[in-house]
Amino acid sequence: MMKLTMMLPEDCVPFANDAADVVRVFTGPLDMLINTPGGDMTLEVSESEENGTRHLTVKQGAYLSSHDAPVLSDHLDNKRLHKRQLKLSVYDCMKALTGRTPPWGSLTGIRPTRLMYMAMERGLSAGEAAREMTELFDVSGEKADLLREIIDVQSGVDRPGEKDVDIYIGIPFCTTRCAYCSFLSGEVGKGKQLAPYTEALTEEIRGTIALIGEKGLRPRAFYMGGGTPTSLPAPLLERVMEEAMPLISRCAEVTVEAGRPDTIDEEKLRILKDCGVSRISINPQTMHDETLRTIGRRHTRQQCEDAYALARKLDFHHINMDLIAGLPGEDLEMFEQTLAWSRGLAPESLTVHTLSIKHSSLLHLWEAKLPDGDMVAQMVRTGAQEAHARGMRPYYLYRQKYMAGNLENVGYALPGHACVYNIDMMEETGNIIALGAGGISKRLFPPRGHIERAPNVSDVGHYMARVDEMLQRKRDLWEKTDEAGAPDKEENE
Ligand code: SF4
Repeated sequence: MMKLTMMLPEDCVPFANDAADVVRVFTGPLDMLINTPGGDMTLEVSESEENGTRHLTVKQGAYLSSHDAPVLSDHLDNKRLHKRQLKLSVYDCMKALTGRTPPWGSLTGIRPTRLMYMAMERGLSAGEAAREMTELFDVSGEKADLLREIIDVQSGVDRPGEKDVDIYIGIPFCTTRCAYCSFLSGEVGKGKQLAPYTEALTEEIRGTIALIGEKGLRPRAFYMGGGTPTSLPAPLLERVMEEAMPLISRCAEVTVEAGRPDTIDEEKLRILKDCGVSRISINPQTMHDETLRTIGRRHTRQQCEDAYALARKLDFHHINMDLIAGLPGEDLEMFEQTLAWSRGLAPESLTVHTLSIKHSSLLHLWEAKLPDGDMVAQMVRTGAQEAHARGMRPYYLYRQKYMAGNLENVGYALPGHACVYNIDMMEETGNIIALGAGGISKRLFPPRGHIERAPNVSDVGHYMARVDEMLQRKRDLWEKTDEAGAPDKEENE
């Protein structure tokens, strides 16, 4: 892997990872050395201050870029601006060096829509906020328009109230592990953890129901994900669902990810239907069996078609489909074939992901087979055109590190089918109580938007042994008062 040396003044060191993320947009995965010579590429950062203005310069060989910014008296605001100044200078330098303009400009954060909302909170219209994204961060017009459309769609969905809470339950098991998986997910076949995990989870569900009652909270959306919840055998799936019924029955939207077509059968779908599940996800990712084998998913296109037929037979009226652009060995034509095939299955919502590879060993293994960034961008564009042609509009978006072409994941939905949980979770506009290993509960303190979190442990064994402690963490979170918290602003740039 490429090694980057960052030569940084002392007060820029805390921003080294942020600056390296900008470099990764241009280079892909890299290791970083701070103030230690020997990298394959060296960025030298220098700065000076004069009359309340900080002048920051980044140099790489013959390439030089600089940004000025005022030195602010508020420590937090000053830190944010300083970090932005460094990131923008690194961005300009890398852009000049490579001659490339990434679609999201200098942005490396997960939630670019949050930046739009923050600009609108300052009084800008959506159009002005979109223009600011381009002027400040060099976001392309295409992506700025996408953000604008998402915000328009989200304006039609009620915001959660102070007492509203979404419920997330994580089932961290899958039949096999996808090669690119970055989630907490163990293979079902590897252990005997399913039954004890279910027991621990039901204990956490009971404690959560009591907490919600005591605090007068209102369940709004229920989401069971993972992993693949339908990897659980039917009796265990039923046990979890029945235990959660006091929560489910109060939610207007109930989603269960049935992601792997090979985990779905009639008995499980009937359990979900009987428990009031309104939305399921069946995710082929691609229609090409050879690609499915390459990425470690042990199901076929035919199994996916059968799963959709079964779900329709059982009257599921909202099925989401996840597809991935940029899979190894696929080109634009193959992605178009997948889109055309998916049209026949008529999902009510479609999420177009861009392949994100965090493991460098995998990247190395697949390198020769991966489509280049321009082709992936074309796939993503074709996915958007297809969704619009079906009457869908984009309703949420997020970005990850190491995405092919430095692109994004976008959820599209037919009118009235935007997933409320996805919006709440991505925009961080409401409370979330998360159960199961790796779940992160979030409490929002209005009006400032300060967020406090209570994470569950990720390790399944530790979770089962410490479920009482996980419950106590949630209790503590809901006992807290809003003290010196400030809105979470930083991660979005
Ligand atoms: S289905 Fe999802 S959670 Fe399961 S292994 Fe694949 S990527 Fe990971």
